[in-house]
Amino acid sequence: MAQVQTFLEQLYHEFKGITDGKLASYIPELARADPGWFGISIVTLDGRSFEVGDVAQKFTIQSISKVFVYGMALEDYGREKLLRKVGVEPTGDPFNSLIRLDEDSKRPDNPMVNAGAIATTGLITGSDPAERLNRMLSMFERYVGNEVFVDVSTFMSEKTTGHRNRAMAHLMLNFGMIEQPIEEALDLYFQQCAVLVTTHDLAVMAATLANQGVNPITGQRAVGSEHVRDILSVMYTCGMYNFAGEWAFRVGIPAKSGVSGGIMAVVPNQAGIAVFSPLLDGHGNSVRGLKVFEALSRFELGGFLRGHQLGL
Ligand code: GLN
Repeated sequence: MAQVQTFLEQLYHEFKGITDGKLASYIPELARADPGWFGISIVTLDGRSFEVGDVAQKFTIQSISKVFVYGMALEDYGREKLLRKVGVEPTGDPFNSLIRLDEDSKRPDNPMVNAGAIATTGLITGSDPAERLNRMLSMFERYVGNEVFVDVSTFMSEKTTGHRNRAMAHLMLNFGMIEQPIEEALDLYFQQCAVLVTTHDLAVMAATLANQGVNPITGQRAVGSEHVRDILSVMYTCGMYNFAGEWAFRVGIPAKSGVSGGIMAVVPNQAGIAVFSPLLDGHGNSVRGLKVFEALSRFELGGFLRGHQLGL
């Protein structure tokens, strides 16, 4: 629908000039991003794309990977068994918080913050690190519909500086929440975060979740439909870290952000939406990304963001 495309173009021009926020630099490789990058993509379940800006620019998926790896763990373990290892409770704390890891907590709070994500990744099955990585890459490929690759520079950059995540893994090991070998789990976690995607890819991945787990472009199933509800629930309650409540209030659809500047959101049964712009606010969410989603939820598309028919 021309109206949607025109609206996206308006938003792009309106927000392109915003230079608030900062590039993530605690992973040194991320500080090399161009702060001007900005792309918006909507992919509908009948395979149409509405896009503007740098939608073909590759970047590392970072925390958005947690959504898909959680889906994989649900398939590998089943809901109840996984729930005993990783909870589904929002923390209200930053994504990299260590605060709630103590003797009394039996498991990390949820799979969308780093502690829970590292524990979830440590559960992925496979006979050795290469098999686990290959299983994970195949899973991402089903969502994207193309081959995916790990950006080795970003992987190495995080592996050699990720002391906080390493500390978290050691604490969880000490409390009996995860098992050895934790270095392998951390490597796999850093690799999943360094998977390269484009804004368009992320919108297709979100559209796959909107389509009960079937990629709307390739027709291939990426995840069992019985797991999609659980994935979307944790996205909705925990996906935007300590901004999750405000996001639910302001935008109102399941979403996940990452420190490289992506935000991916799912409109069940209708579309996937992704925005990429690397300047981040204090919560680690893309500044322009938030603006775009707030505007989308106000537009007459607002109806569709809240589950009404989009009529695209
Ligand atoms: N790889 C990043 C980390 O663990 C992902 C964090 C994020 O995107 N919020 O710190």
